Parts: sequence; structure tokens; C-alpha cells
Amino acid sequence: MSLGPPVQRLKSRPVTFIFEIPTDKLVEFWNGLPKGKVYASKCTKCGKITFPPVADCSSCLNSGVEWVDLQGEVEIETFTHIVVRPTSFANHETYTVTVAKMREGVRVLAWLEGAKMGKVKVGAKVKLAGKVTDEGPTYAFTLA
Ligand SMILES: [Zn+2]
Repeated sequence: MSLGPPVQRLKSRPVTFIFEIPTDKLVEFWNGLPKGKVYASKCTKCGKITFPPVADCSSCLNSGVEWVDLQGEVEIETFTHIVVRPTSFANHETYTVTVAKMREGVRVLAWLEGAKMGKVKVGAKVKLAGKVTDEGPTYAFTLA
């Protein structure tokens, strides 16, 4: 069904983006992922916990952080199955993205591994863990 006149389009050549991510201030986070750890940052001045971690507090602008290990079982707050994948994930099978509120109060958005469409429910228990894939260090939920 068309809602207006046809739009003519030209295709660009394929474009690859590779970002260099500075990790010097967040090295603890990146070093934790291969060990299975996922760290949030906690401001040493006001105590604000942030995920993904930040080197400088958005509340009080303090640059001192300590690291909080996000662990334990938490409940899925929401999720979606991604069937039509963006180009950057075209080589992946369909996947599930989940949001859960960690015990430390921060929400984490991550892939839910091992989830079958129709079997995931809001309120299901999940665990968060760091890991290394062919694409580099990352983190994901798994059903607990
Ligand atoms: Zn702060």
C-alpha cells in the first residue's frame, strides 16, 4: 500500500564505520568483561551509580569513580525479539534485547542469550555476565 507518490532512491556504496573507543578511564570495566564481570561506575563524591559506566559524574561532575559489580538474579522488565536486523547485525540470527533493573538500581539493556521467541516473559529471572566474542568484549543476560 502506498500513501503517496513513489519515492526514487539511489543506493550509496557500502560504508563501514569503525570507532575507536577510548578506554583509559574505564579500563576496569573493559578488563572485567573477559572475567565475566560487569561493572557500573559509582561516583566517589555523590554516590550516583551509572551504567554504562562513566568516568565523570553527570550529577556533580566529579571525576572519581569506584566500581560496582552488577551481579545477582534480576527480573526482565521488558524485551523485544529482533527479527528484521539492522545492517550491522545482519550476520546474526534473530535475537532478543532485554531491559532489567539491577539490584544496584541501574537499568541494563543487553541481549538475552538462549532465548526462544515466545518463551520469554516479563518477570523472568536473568543474570548478567561479561564475555568476549569474535567481535570483542561485551555483556549479555542469560535466563537464570
Ligand atoms: Zn557525583
